[in-house]
Amino acid sequence: KFITFEGPDGAGKTSVMNRVIEVFNQEIGDQLLVTREPGGNKISEEIRKVILDRENTEMDYRTEALLYAAARRQHLVETILPALKQNKLVLCDRYVDSSVAYQGAGRQIGMAQVAKMNEFATEKLLPFKTIYFDIPVDVGLDRIAEHRDRSKIDRLDVETNEFHKRVHEGYMKVRDENADRFISIDATQPINRVVNDTIKIIHQIASE
Ligand code: C5P
Ligand code: MG
Repeated sequence: KFITFEGPDGAGKTSVMNRVIEVFNQEIGDQLLVTREPGGNKISEEIRKVILDRENTEMDYRTEALLYAAARRQHLVETILPALKQNKLVLCDRYVDSSVAYQGAGRQIGMAQVAKMNEFATEKLLPFKTIYFDIPVDVGLDRIAEHRDRSKIDRLDVETNEFHKRVHEGYMKVRDENADRFISIDATQPINRVVNDTIKIIHQIASE
């Protein structure tokens, strides 16, 4: 089964995922694939570098959206589909919904257009379920401010509070439009609770 993890910056997705992965690695080790976007294989990792390490050079927003979609395509074909064929549980950190929220809403390219481009990239393959780390805009923004570090400094000028607010709103729309697939977790809870909720939900999905 194909499960994705989504959420805005500051939701704590990365920390929670690391702990959840530990648990499932022990439980089902070889029947599990944990992977992330953009990356997970050589070509996608190279595309990721082009997107992220651009040393202050401005990248056109549509170029960025196309690169994310290209990395996603390769990741799907090379990494996700073979694992699904072997009946593995696939836990993927970010997928199409991230692009619709970040590039579509955040960068204001347009959610519908980004969704359409990604339909081409994925041949409309969507996750079975999407676990959404839900956090109010202002809480997320506070957490981002706390966690800002030097490694991200060159991105700050293009990722303002306004940008993150649009990403949040974008996610809310995506979630409403995909209510059958989205499962929200209250990401404002203490991390142990968020981890436990996530594990419970994955168990439930895996047994469906
Ligand atoms: O998932 P993670 O927290 O590592 O994402 C880091 C950053 O990647 C986000 O803050 C955002 O800047 C960027 N991103 C993006 N568009 C996507 C996926 C990620 O801009 N589709
Ligand atoms: Mg993160």
